[in-house]
Amino acid sequence: MAKQSVALLGLGTMGAGMAANLLKAGFPLAVYNRSRAKAEVFAAQGARVADTPADAARGASVILSMLADDAASRAVWLGNGGALAAAAKGAVLVECGTVSPAWIAELAKAAQASGLELLDAPVTGSRLQAAGGQLTFLVGGSEEALTIATPVLESMSKEIAHLGPLGSGAKMKLLNNFICGVQIAALAEGIAWLERSGLDGDQAIDLLKRGAPGSPLLASISARMTSRDYTVNFHLKLMSKDLQYAGDAAAASGVELTTAANARSLFEQAVALGYGDEDMSSVVELLRAKQHG
Ligand code: NAP
Repeated sequence: MAKQSVALLGLGTMGAGMAANLLKAGFPLAVYNRSRAKAEVFAAQGARVADTPADAARGASVILSMLADDAASRAVWLGNGGALAAAAKGAVLVECGTVSPAWIAELAKAAQASGLELLDAPVTGSRLQAAGGQLTFLVGGSEEALTIATPVLESMSKEIAHLGPLGSGAKMKLLNNFICGVQIAALAEGIAWLERSGLDGDQAIDLLKRGAPGSPLLASISARMTSRDYTVNFHLKLMSKDLQYAGDAAAASGVELTTAANARSLFEQAVALGYGDEDMSSVVELLRAKQHG
């Protein structure tokens, strides 16, 4: 059977790895990125480089977006030259970025008005998992739309979790990143304290890793914080966005995320210090710079 034609909108840290795996799996692929240079890299590998989101979406059976936030997603789907207006009848739209459930509901309405179906399918896994085709998709939306998109999503992932109706993927992703963001903020404060405590840093971190707080996140982020290697896996400013969306989504369910608000304040202060485009682990530099008492 011929492979479905695919469009991918957004070739940042995550989208670049996803594009490589779609091409490797043999899907005819059109790519669009606001900064065109990031798209041109994929021309040599057989992708069609589109000038606009609409140009990429034309004729595609599955249209994926992997963009920074609600505003980027709105611009690319609904803005000037947006993808939605050019999508073919029967195409499935898949929003893979971490966006708010409120935006998913709005985009779904616009899709429905054009007779199209949307899935929200944000991911867990980071740069290396995107490059290695080892993402987990957290999907909300209809079984029928997911069946159409499954072969495409499978080429980039190790797991596709169908969580329920539209918006379920976005909620699950924000719950996940709320807990990650709070842990990273706590770890940054912990490491800043450790560095001034007189304790041996390596010994203390080894005990933390093997003790009750030990987690894959603690292991990877503490290594980046202590080595000061801020090679971007996840832009710091995106974690601030995720904590904001998580707080809003939880508030809509009547729950106040006080720890998210505190963690977000640290990420926002780090953005103000110029760390927004560094890896999120660089939030520790804010604490290193601060001197209390
Ligand atoms: P990124 O490297 O910062 O890339 C962001 C992408 O969005 C780029 O293609 C960028 O285009 C585009 N963009 C930003 N603002 C735009 C606008 N106003 N109009 C059009 N395009 C715009 O982000 P990423 O790490 O790939 O993450 C993408 C999404 O996945 C985010 O929602 C993030 O929270 C989520 N996510 C990230 C990770 C991770 O570990 N990195 C893991 C899971 C989920 P330009 O190239 O022109 O700037």
